[in-house]
Amino acid sequence: MSDAVLRTFVAVPLPAPVRAALGDLSARIRTGGLRGRWVPPENLHLTLAFLGDTEARAVAPIRAALTRAAAGCQAFDLTPAGLGVFPGPRRPRVLWVGLQGGLEALGALAEAVGSALAAIGFPLPRRGAVGHLTLARAKEVFDPEALAAVFQRHGGFAGPPFHVHRIVLYRSQLGAGPARYSPLAEAALGAAGAPFTTGGEP
Ligand code: ATP
Ligand code: MG
Repeated sequence: MSDAVLRTFVAVPLPAPVRAALGDLSARIRTGGLRGRWVPPENLHLTLAFLGDTEARAVAPIRAALTRAAAGCQAFDLTPAGLGVFPGPRRPRVLWVGLQGGLEALGALAEAVGSALAAIGFPLPRRGAVGHLTLARAKEVFDPEALAAVFQRHGGFAGPPFHVHRIVLYRSQLGAGPARYSPLAEAALGAAGAPFTTGGEP
């Protein structure tokens, strides 16, 4: 099965209290009547790079590249704050919570990950705008009136600050219902030579 293909992405896992606060926000927005596909709280994460189809045999070199990238970046703090939509207000398809705090460090981390993957010949991963936490996706677009009410009511949302100290390569399995993510590799920030681990609580 060494030529098996996995759907993968690199992300910062969110601590349980952050997922709980965002899950609570999602529940309140959903109860308020906005229709969409809601990310289950356990799936909430901060995407750094989407690799998509990845040969299983590429996982080991990717793990090594992520370890190098992470080792060269210092840990930093982020605070979930505010709401936004992608691709923009005229066509709102993705509802997200923004981030404040170490945004420069976050950008540098995403750059380091992208460069490390490019250096091993992995096609440069497609990177969306880094720095958002997706809550929900509309089937087509969100209802504008319902969305306006959400921004009015919850636009000032702020979640608990969290410490970014590791990145994880996840496998994503799509099917009926929400995607299923499973960790394939993990790398610690600012820890040159740290051992790899897999699995574990995000
Ligand atoms: P679903 O596709 O069922 O809504 P999902 O988007 O959570 O679930 P994936 O599509 O596997 O699962 O995506 C995994 C992560 O990668 C998510 O954070 C997603 O936003 C991001 N992602 C997916 N496709 C792309 C892409 N083409 N460009 C940038 N990021 C992507
Ligand atoms: Mg998707």
